[in-house]
Order: sequence, then C-alpha cells, then structure tokens
Amino acid sequence: MNGTGLAAGGAAAVFASAGVMAYAVRVPWSSMLAPSVYQGSGARRAIALTFDDGPSESTPELLEILALHGVTATFFQCGANVRRLPQISREVVSGGHEIGNHTDTHPRLFCHSGRFIERELAHAQKTIEQTTGVRPRLFRAPYGVRWFGLRQAQQRLGLLGVMWSTIALDWKWPESRVVQRLLDGSRNGAIFCLHDGRRLEAKPDIRATLGTVRAVLPKLMEQGFHFEKVTDILCPTQN
Ligand SMILES: [Zn+2]
Repeated sequence: MNGTGLAAGGAAAVFASAGVMAYAVRVPWSSMLAPSVYQGSGARRAIALTFDDGPSESTPELLEILALHGVTATFFQCGANVRRLPQISREVVSGGHEIGNHTDTHPRLFCHSGRFIERELAHAQKTIEQTTGVRPRLFRAPYGVRWFGLRQAQQRLGLLGVMWSTIALDWKWPESRVVQRLLDGSRNGAIFCLHDGRRLEAKPDIRATLGTVRAVLPKLMEQGFHFEKVTDILCPTQN
C-alpha cells in the first residue's frame, strides 16, 4: 500500500458513519472529499446550463438550438468521447462554449485508488487540450460521486469541482417532466445539469434533452433570466 492508500484508509475511518459518508460522496453541496461549487452568484438573474457526457453525434443539434437563442453553456466532456468525435468537440469550443473535464471513461470514482482517479482526470485533460487547444479548469465527477484522492488530483491538475443546484434527470424522465423540474429550479445563480451524451454510448438518444432545451430557453428568458458559462456565473461582480 502506498502513502496515498494509507491516508485514504485513515480518512475513511474518520467517515465511519454511513450517513456522513453518503453525504460526502454524493450530496451536491458537500466539499468534504474535494472542493466544489454547486451554484453561482445570486447577484444577477442568470442561470448556467451545463451538459455532461458529450460530445455525441447529437451535440451539433444542441449547439444549433443554443446559437439560435444566443446562449453559451458549459460542456463537461469525457476524454474517450472527445477521441471518438474530435471535430464535434472543436465545434463546441468554436461556438463560444466552455469545456470542462468529466473524466476519461466515466467511471464511478467510488472505491478507486487515488492513482486511478488522477489517471482518469489527467487523460481526459490531455485529450481535451490536444483536441481543442483549451485546457479545462472545471471538473464534474461522473454520477456526482467524489472519493478520496480526488482532492489531490484536482489540485495537481488545477481543476475546480462543479456540481449542480438542479439535476435534470433528462436521461430517464420524459421531456415535459424535465422541463417542469428546471422551471421549478430556476433562480439567480442556478446551475442546471443536463446531458448531451449518455456515458460513452455512441449515437445516444438525447431527444428529451434537446426538447427540454428548446422548450425551457424561451420560457426562462421571458422570466428575465439570461445564461452564463459556469466560470462567469461564479463571479459575483461581472456585468
Ligand atoms: Zn456523466
């Protein structure tokens, strides 16, 4: 067992209560296992749209919808998907959107070694940078699951964890229900988590996501909201 393993074992003992452990691993506003944010500044009537698990074959359709409304968003991409669809990853960047790291192969980080976790993040980081020329500063954990060793990996790679204030459940709910969930979660500084892919699946069915974005953008704009990238919405003094 290496030093990291011993430290993780010791830390695990501290979190002996299952309730505390579940909180640390899964709850969006917990930063116990790695620094993360889950909402932006409340100073502006702004919402950040984030899309995980891309790029996918359907990402260009999403980019068209966003462009139609003049909206920029943040895309947490998996390294393996970027290698599969490098051109689409570059299209996301040229559309003015922000790219974050969503690991290389979308594993649950739960119970993995610090070395495994760092390798997953570093490999995605390298792929994204080599493909798009952009080095991500933001990280989203697959399934929102954080684990021991993530803190150090984020630190070494200069990544800030980003969770969400509302997760869309767009991979399992019908469009109408997802739309209502996002409207209910709309508030200043909200961070919405949607999906333009489904893990590493090729040609995933993301029609519910696309329909939701089409429906929700005009409704929220009518309510006076505008949309910011995650980096921007975290800044209290912007605009
Ligand atoms: Zn994901």
